[in-house]
Amino acid sequence: MISLYAVRTGGEMDAFCTKCDMNLGHTIIAMIGPKVVKVRCNTCQGHHSFRGDQPLAKAAGVAKPKAVVLGFEDRLKGRTIGAARQYTPKEYFRIDDVISHPTFGMGVVIANRADKIDVVFKAFEKTLVNGKAS
Ligand SMILES: [Zn+2]
Repeated sequence: MISLYAVRTGGEMDAFCTKCDMNLGHTIIAMIGPKVVKVRCNTCQGHHSFRGDQPLAKAAGVAKPKAVVLGFEDRLKGRTIGAARQYTPKEYFRIDDVISHPTFGMGVVIANRADKIDVVFKAFEKTLVNGKAS
C-alpha cells in the first residue's frame, strides 16, 4: 500500500489518525530507512507514530474507551437491576434511576436537565428525552 506513495520525509500519505479517529492525509515527519515512523495529521496537526492504515472495523472497536465500561459497571454496582424501569420518552426519570432501554439495554441516569436525561449504557453515554407528555 505504501509503495503507491512517494514515501519520503515531508511527503504525504494516508494514515489512521487516532485523534480524528479516521484515515486521513498525513505528512511524513520521520523515517527510519524505508519505514515511516512518525507522521503529522494534516487535519488536526497532531503528531503520532505511524501504525499503518487500520481497517475501519477495527478502529471502531478501539473507539470504545475501557474507562466508560468500568464506569458503567461501577455505577451499576449496588443498584437493584430488578428495579430497572422500561425507558419510554413519556416516563420521568431521576438521577441514579436504573433504566432498561429497548435498544441500548441497561443504563443509569447520570444527569437530568429540563426534558432531557443523560444515561450511561454499557459502552456509551446517551442523551434521551425525559418526561415528555405526548
Ligand atoms: Zn488528526
